Amino acid sequence: MKFARFTINGEKYTGVVIDDVIREIQGDMFGEWEYTGKIFFKHEVKFLAPLEPNQIIGIGANYVPQKEDLPDRLPEIPVFFFKPTSSVIGPEEEIVIPKGVDQVKFESELAVVIGKEAKNVPESDVLDYVFGYTIGNDVTAPQFFHQDGHWTLGKAFDTFTPLGPVIETKLDPFNVNVKARLNGVEKQNSPTAFMIIPICKMISYLTNIMTLKPGDVVLTGSPIGAEFVRAGDTIECEIEEIGTLRNTFAAAKECTKIG
Ligand code: MG
Repeated sequence: MKFARFTINGEKYTGVVIDDVIREIQGDMFGEWEYTGKIFFKHEVKFLAPLEPNQIIGIGANYVPQKEDLPDRLPEIPVFFFKPTSSVIGPEEEIVIPKGVDQVKFESELAVVIGKEAKNVPESDVLDYVFGYTIGNDVTAPQFFHQDGHWTLGKAFDTFTPLGPVIETKLDPFNVNVKARLNGVEKQNSPTAFMIIPICKMISYLTNIMTLKPGDVVLTGSPIGAEFVRAGDTIECEIEEIGTLRNTFAAAKECTKIG
């Protein structure tokens, strides 16, 4: 089932996408909900980020170029970071390159949406706590990585976390490819099997540290191939079974003095 949020004529809706139409729902996506009977055509609406995340947690440097490169031993403490919810935008919205930022990268990622409160969950049970999956673009300005290793600021600018276009609840996350096309040219295309810390291990680990809640989003890392971009570039992050998340980079508008 594909859940989406969308807007038309200034109103916001949540619905289930079925082929070319979206059936509106009311209630809690993660709990009790029902169809309202209203139906929209996909082509007449503007998709929003498919949820307003409770919190967003990312994992760093989590893919190898090929399966043979997977390490025998996993890092004892994985690199996790938070992204602010204020950085979230939806499909087709502009990613704004802030003034004074020289280098910005796209990072196409499988994003896990948590559906149930999760604390101390063993790896074998993690999928019971997952609501579904969407696509995230973990946009990054590495010049703001602190020399001591903090990544938060470089990933925190407004518009730096496009999400969408839908949350797919029926997905085999171990059997999909994470792709990115920059101006139509493929730059990333790796199976999730190339993850260093697999999904169940990373989420189990997180639940041993913090309670995860419905609406939390875990960005699972980006394949090899992320590149720097410029204003005007178009980035399409794609996982075929979910869809395509398309955004364009724009330079921040200059502040002009009037008078
Ligand atoms: Mg990333």
